Amino acid sequence: MKLNIVTIPGDGIGPEIVREACKVLDRVGRVYGHTMEYTEILMGGCSIDRYGVPLTDEALAAAKAADAVLLGAVGGDVGNSRWYDVAPNLRPEAGLLAIRKGLNLFANIRPAYLYKELAGACPLKKEIIGSGFDMVIMRELTGGLYFGERYTKEIDGLMTAVDTLTYNENEIRRIAVKAFDIAMKRRKSVISVDKANVLDSSRLWRKVVEEVAADYPEVSLKHMLVDNCAMQLVMNPGQFDVVLTENMFGDILSDEASMITGSIGMLSSASLNEGKFGMYEPSHGSAPDIAGLGVANPIATILSAAMMLRYSFDLDREADAIEKAVQQVLTEGYRTGDIYSEGCQKVGTVKMGDLIVERIS
Ligand code: NAD
Repeated sequence: MKLNIVTIPGDGIGPEIVREACKVLDRVGRVYGHTMEYTEILMGGCSIDRYGVPLTDEALAAAKAADAVLLGAVGGDVGNSRWYDVAPNLRPEAGLLAIRKGLNLFANIRPAYLYKELAGACPLKKEIIGSGFDMVIMRELTGGLYFGERYTKEIDGLMTAVDTLTYNENEIRRIAVKAFDIAMKRRKSVISVDKANVLDSSRLWRKVVEEVAADYPEVSLKHMLVDNCAMQLVMNPGQFDVVLTENMFGDILSDEASMITGSIGMLSSASLNEGKFGMYEPSHGSAPDIAGLGVANPIATILSAAMMLRYSFDLDREADAIEKAVQQVLTEGYRTGDIYSEGCQKVGTVKMGDLIVERIS
């Protein structure tokens, strides 16, 4: 199979970690008989330096023409970089918003997986962690409260602010379909999170999710109120497989789920459009404090590349091979500085990439 991939190394540690992810993809290509075709584009601070804008029309067009996009991270030291002495729409992160919008990426998936080797970094008690957890948060990304009408004005002599939470049935249906499709590739369980005891938008959400569920008889569906979900994540995280939710609830719950894994350098993410196209990136930022030192953990980006193989190309066996190789390297005791603990062997970015590559055969 030929895989047409746009890479966006970006800023800070971005180029270092994307290089390692491409090394791993190349190895997968050699072992399983696929051809990786990369087109590199600039986004973020590096694009500002070259073109004066964080994302050019040409770069966006190249991304649109690809099968999938692999992104490192964009942005610099916010308090201390010339990239931030300009209007917000010209800053590095504006490139990120522009590409998400331009590519119509409405579904965000963030896995939260606890490696037993890294359980020491998990802030939860051992008896709560139990045999670990492995969930994905599926968050609607382009609707709801963050995109509704908003204004602040004086009403009856009082300054009043209004934000509007709107969803139509199509917006709900397309994200629900994604969640059920992904559940079919996992443990076939969806927990849909809403606030249906209060919000009309949640009541419509529940109705449409149930309609979609009818097309997936193998997948079990439960509904959970968002306040209960926030508690359940820290009381019994092992119960979750796919968590489906709207934009703002997902924003908050996905951060909570990331935190309980305890290791930001390990967390991948994907943003998908209506079809198979997706943009894949680590959950962390460009870490300007360690850029160029060769110490960044490339695993979140490598696992994002695995998600790309699984969700954009349906190459589940190949994605499994990458995830297994990562697991093996951790079991053997290799760690980058951010996940290091006593008794382990500390390695840098390139060595970690090499170790993972060697274990894909
Ligand atoms: P950050 O995630 O870049 O860094 C937070 C801390 O985690 C730092 O100490 C950093 O060294 C460490 N860290 C992050 N990733 C690591 C890795 N792979 N290996 C080892 N250590 C790692 O968050 P921040 O400092 O708040 O933001 C830095 C820049 O990144 C800002 O310009 C911000 O806007 C940008 N950012 C970009 C994205 C993106 O491109 N998607 C996301 C978040 C932040």
